[in-house]
Amino acid sequence: MSSNVSARHQAGVKMNQSTRSVRIGLDDNTSLTNEIGLGTLAQVNARGGTVVLLLFGPPGSGKGTQSRLITNWLKIPAISTGDMLRGEIAAGSKLGETAKSIMASGGLVGDDLVNQMLKARVSRTDCAGGFLLDGYPRTAEQAEFLDKLLEERRLPAPTILHLDVPADALIGRMTSRRECPKCKRIYNLLHQPPKTAGVCDDDGAALITRRDDTEEVVRERLRMYDAITRPVLAYFQYRNYYQIRGDRSPSYIFEAISGILEPLVTKNGDGRGHSPTASATS
Ligand code: ADP
Repeated sequence: MSSNVSARHQAGVKMNQSTRSVRIGLDDNTSLTNEIGLGTLAQVNARGGTVVLLLFGPPGSGKGTQSRLITNWLKIPAISTGDMLRGEIAAGSKLGETAKSIMASGGLVGDDLVNQMLKARVSRTDCAGGFLLDGYPRTAEQAEFLDKLLEERRLPAPTILHLDVPADALIGRMTSRRECPKCKRIYNLLHQPPKTAGVCDDDGAALITRRDDTEEVVRERLRMYDAITRPVLAYFQYRNYYQIRGDRSPSYIFEAISGILEPLVTKNGDGRGHSPTASATS
């Protein structure tokens, strides 16, 4: 058993029950990558392959932290619809105005608005070599929209990384979460505090608490996740789907994820090359 495979097992990674469907996915990705290489969208990620990653999980499951580690490694763009919406609010745009009160109460912003915002982002040239989605899709309509969009853009079907964390661990995690407004690095006052209290290790910016990280709003966000977002997993059941236990350290989870992704993101699908480490990228 290779170290990557064993890390996967130790981290509680569950692959789609149908190995065949995972393999078909791999073959599809490889052929599509080759096709893209010959066509107009000739970009690839840092490892030579093209991959669309979808980080799925409840609020507070560590999607933001893993997104940062994965995209530093693969040099693909991270697209967080939550960050984009917060950017719209900060810019005072019409979309931001609409999103503001919905986000403050822990609800979901309308599908049409989010879908169009995502489409515009994915149409930019930096996404031609693949990208990572954090916090999208969150509804069945968004999942269907994404499939059509990927087909239109001649990008591979997504690989789903589901960070599964028991609900009782999430509220404490989120209320002790702090974020750097500049580089978006996420800290946790209990488990991953900054070196100097209140200040980002990387750029010295003053850390903030997100407005929707109060206990009342967090409870509503978790309710929305259970009612609307979790059922979207059924849509991905027969895809390249991996369930990962998210109640471990960030570096442990990243090791498990990189073990899964190594063969998918490498051009020839053979997983050659050295493995990333969380410490080297964080
Ligand atoms: P988290 O995953 O911790 O809830 P996000 O930053 O992803 O944090 O999202 C914050 C808020 O932004 C959500 O509670 C929701 O109001 C809004 N939002 C983000 N992504 C979407 C989406 N895909 N569809 C609808 N609303 C979204």
